[in-house]
Amino acid sequence: MTPQRMAILNYLKGNLEHPSAEDIYKAIGKKFPTMSFATVYNTLETLKQMGQIRELYCDPYKKRFDPNPNPHHHVVCTQCQKIVDLQDEIRIKPPTLTTEKFEILGSHIEFYGICSKCKSKNSSSRKEETIYVKNRTGS
Ligand SMILES: [Zn+2]
Ligand SMILES: [Zn+2]
Repeated sequence: MTPQRMAILNYLKGNLEHPSAEDIYKAIGKKFPTMSFATVYNTLETLKQMGQIRELYCDPYKKRFDPNPNPHHHVVCTQCQKIVDLQDEIRIKPPTLTTEKFEILGSHIEFYGICSKCKSKNSSSRKEETIYVKNRTGS
């Protein structure tokens, strides 16, 4: 195991943020300034193939990585793309018939919503919006 791979694994161990490759690169770069983004990316691919980490597709802007290889579901904030683990055990019955004859490898439930941080931000911006609308109707 290379020191780079160790560093990435250590960074991901117990990490609940579901970081992107960019996040990991930034964090690891402090310790390994010579490590390129390509190395980080390739190491993540290797770790994924080894089953040490999971790749998530919940974020439409970038791939996110999950060091918890056990099956679990997520809730995603539609505004800041924060991904949080769900501890609830939700079981889905795999479909028996698919039109494209897919071989089902797994399932993952993604709930989406607004995190508390964004919710409080929203309520203040909504107030501004109302004021704006009022001004417009007034003129
Ligand atoms: Zn949010
Ligand atoms: Zn997770």
